[in-house]
Amino acid sequence: MKHMTRKATRHVNQNEGLIFEKSSAGKAAWKLPPLDVPEVDAAKLLGSAERKDLGNMPEVSEIEIIRHFTRMSTWNYAIDLGMYPLGSCTMKYNPRVNEAVARVEGIANGHPYQPEKISQGALRIIKTLSECLIEITGMDAITLQPAAGAHGEMTGLLMVRAYQESKGNPRKKILIPDSAHGTNPATAAMVGYAVENLKSDSRGTVDIGALEAQMNEDVAALMLTNPNTLGVFEQDIHRIADILHAKGGLLYMDGANMNALVGKARPGDFGVDVMHLNLHKTFSTPHGGGGPGSGPVAIKKTLEPFLPKPILVTKSDGTLSFDYNRPHSVGRVRAFYGNFGMFVRALAYIQANGPDGLRQTTEDAVLNANYVRKGLEGTYDLPYDTPSMHEVVFSDKVQAKKGVRTMDIAKRLIDYGFHPYTTAFPLIVPGALMIEPTESESKEEMDLFVEAMKSIAEEVEEDPQMVLDAPHSTRVRRLDETAAARKPVLRWKPD
Ligand SMILES: *Cc1c(COP(=O)(O)O)cnc(C)c1O
Repeated sequence: MKHMTRKATRHVNQNEGLIFEKSSAGKAAWKLPPLDVPEVDAAKLLGSAERKDLGNMPEVSEIEIIRHFTRMSTWNYAIDLGMYPLGSCTMKYNPRVNEAVARVEGIANGHPYQPEKISQGALRIIKTLSECLIEITGMDAITLQPAAGAHGEMTGLLMVRAYQESKGNPRKKILIPDSAHGTNPATAAMVGYAVENLKSDSRGTVDIGALEAQMNEDVAALMLTNPNTLGVFEQDIHRIADILHAKGGLLYMDGANMNALVGKARPGDFGVDVMHLNLHKTFSTPHGGGGPGSGPVAIKKTLEPFLPKPILVTKSDGTLSFDYNRPHSVGRVRAFYGNFGMFVRALAYIQANGPDGLRQTTEDAVLNANYVRKGLEGTYDLPYDTPSMHEVVFSDKVQAKKGVRTMDIAKRLIDYGFHPYTTAFPLIVPGALMIEPTESESKEEMDLFVEAMKSIAEEVEEDPQMVLDAPHSTRVRRLDETAAARKPVLRWKPD
């Protein structure tokens, strides 16, 4: 393959059967010492709760189980292996200092049922992170309870609903631009609102005329992502806020991707009333696999009575405590106080960088997205040439003439040793290639990426069928993604 670039192309891909297939009767990965206490009759102890038939359990030795899972772990692509340019997901490097701090004994072994008196350190972490995020967003108060971005959206809209009800007008609608993340309309519907679509203009931003025409006393809020999913900053954000506020509506900002704003611009200063953050994007905590998510919701003073409870307060003696006496609260949205381990990591990241470091991070994220944009302009179609922030969206318009679509290019990118970019999103760009390098990437890695993408564009011209058949170097070839989503096989069954 003459086009292959300097990037490693072979995936480590040891074959591996199911653990059930390795099983042989009598093997075990453990050995207990002889029983030195009286034996208890399980049936007596457990009664009908005793499970006698354990079904088909794999029986393997310790080294077999270690090799099984270690081999399988090599099938995954990870940010620790290379660039992960999945737009909108902000797949940035998770610094090891975060992990070091999260493993400090007193922090790792803390328990939510510990009395407040001996949890002051943990409460201080929650308080300090809250204060940092309030400073970064320019908002007045925050809840750290929600466990993901979409969960934050739900919590935010529950507060919007409680606020509008407290004004005596429940309102029925949420306005959402056509460039919105899919979770926005889903959340609005889940909270019981009707969703009304708002058109973007030719710059890829909110059409102010359309907003003025659609805004009325039935609209509870507008949910806006800024920078939006085209990676474009909504320059008229002040006007958008004014139009909403004039008719009693609230401005919800989807702040999942604050990577272009931190240290530069504060949503609280441009009229936002309520917003969520994704600690697992902007603040470098792991996405899935390595840990749960966290989607704090920051608000303006007017929404404070509705915050999920309990809220953290400082008592007169200076100690920290939870206040449960919150009659207007939307209630609790998560067990205990949220995903505490993620708060520790996000705070470690914020403090390790400091204000200037965070600002630099933002500048580097924007610089990197624009470096990739410059490198690929002319090779791939750029549907909106408005300046890019932390990500850039191309389309497959040129390659589609040869019958090759964004998903095919993404599959071919795997052969070059990269994780695919985000395909077919945002929906307002047909055949979108959404690329977000993040600040983690060096110029050298981005050069390899640009080289790979250009090489694929050449391959599309010369041998489109080869690209359509990609990936070629992986353990499994193209999977039937629709069947995988619609008819998933989640359980192994013995024949
Ligand atoms: C990732 C993302 C979300 C959803 O966050 P989850 O943690 O995956 O629920 C919402 N909005 C935007 C713009 C996002 O990028």
